[in-house]
Amino acid sequence: MTAAIFLDRDDTLISNDGDLGDPAEVVLLDGVSQGLERLRSMGFELVVVTNQGGVARGRYEEKDVMLVHERIQELVGETTPLHFYYCPFHPKGTVQEYTREHPWRKPAPGMFYAAAQRLGLDLSQCWVIGDQHRDMEAGRSAGCRTILFSRPGTRADECKKAPDHTVDSFGQAVEVIGLAVSEG
Ligand SMILES: [Mg+2]
Repeated sequence: MTAAIFLDRDDTLISNDGDLGDPAEVVLLDGVSQGLERLRSMGFELVVVTNQGGVARGRYEEKDVMLVHERIQELVGETTPLHFYYCPFHPKGTVQEYTREHPWRKPAPGMFYAAAQRLGLDLSQCWVIGDQHRDMEAGRSAGCRTILFSRPGTRADECKKAPDHTVDSFGQAVEVIGLAVSEG
């Protein structure tokens, strides 16, 4: 069976202080391109799983989310293909059709299960990399190993359960996975 790396999007792959809906504003974080390339060369599928409650809040539309994803793929390069899953719902939205809780919204693991079914993933061999506790919680619920990309304001000891690993760069997360793979 195939394994995947589940990747949070905002402040894990790209920098995003607020509600990013403009593909021209997409900036990859340090080491992301090379890191994704290396993960792909280890045989992992790369699956972006992102909450996009900005759609429910009316800040931008689903088509903008898709344009941002096209831009990310363009910057990463087509030899490193990414699968994208996003959740446009939020219980406190302003756009009625998107205003509700949804099983895809992290910390719920719905996007992980959807990708696993579509791509035939063995979730116990998958990892999640994210900068928020809800990423860790979603990954853990799905049975994946967890890597917290800690930033100022994110502390591992605030997680309900400690992540399996805590790193301070994307490259370091890739090192952790590379080491685990080489140890079999
Ligand atoms: Mg994030």
